[in-house]
Amino acid sequence: MDKKQLLEELKSEGFSEDIIKAFEQVKREDFVPENLKEFSYIDEPLSIGKGQTISQPYTIAFMLNLLELKDNLKILEIGSGSGYVLALINELSKNSKIYGIERIKELAEISREVLKNKNTEIVHGDGSKGLKQHALYDRILVSAAADKIPKKLLEQLNYNGILVIPVRNSIISIKKLYRENKIKEYPGFVFVPLIEE
Ligand code: SAM
Repeated sequence: MDKKQLLEELKSEGFSEDIIKAFEQVKREDFVPENLKEFSYIDEPLSIGKGQTISQPYTIAFMLNLLELKDNLKILEIGSGSGYVLALINELSKNSKIYGIERIKELAEISREVLKNKNTEIVHGDGSKGLKQHALYDRILVSAAADKIPKKLLEQLNYNGILVIPVRNSIISIKKLYRENKIKEYPGFVFVPLIEE
């Protein structure tokens, strides 16, 4: 599959024009290892080394859609891996503060280099309890599966903010509200685990 076909496929899934445009702008091949570059536009996860993967484009589009991105936000991605999703967020949310946290040092370093001209900051560390130093966030995206929703992440979310997190095999979106949080669950996804240190 080439980039054009992937974009067509995402379009046929009904994702917004903004999301399709972001996938068009960002080169996935910049985020995959040399030996896998020819597979950059198949709609599958790909190995990025250290036992980790760059997520499937469809799954990424699904999560970005739930994040309801707009400009002028503070955004955190936990498990930023190759940096591909951060680059997409950077396209979808202008004039925002965009942070990534990644526990594998080599991946944090490689992604920092690839994204050096983008408006993103990547921290090397355990993000299972969020990234307190820059909280509160308007959006938190977790790119690895937790066993349950970590309470600390909700504490680091602004009111009216959105947390999108895979919990076991479901993607959960939570809108933090003053009264009762609005929670939705979408089953049928597979993620690498969120490692809790
Ligand atoms: N969004 C990433 C991308 O675009 O490449 C996807 C990366 S992969 C599906 C999930 C990442 O979560 C892995 O790189 C893994 O090392 C990281 N991870 C797992 N547990 C973590 C934790 N507690 N803190 C930070 N990163 C973590």
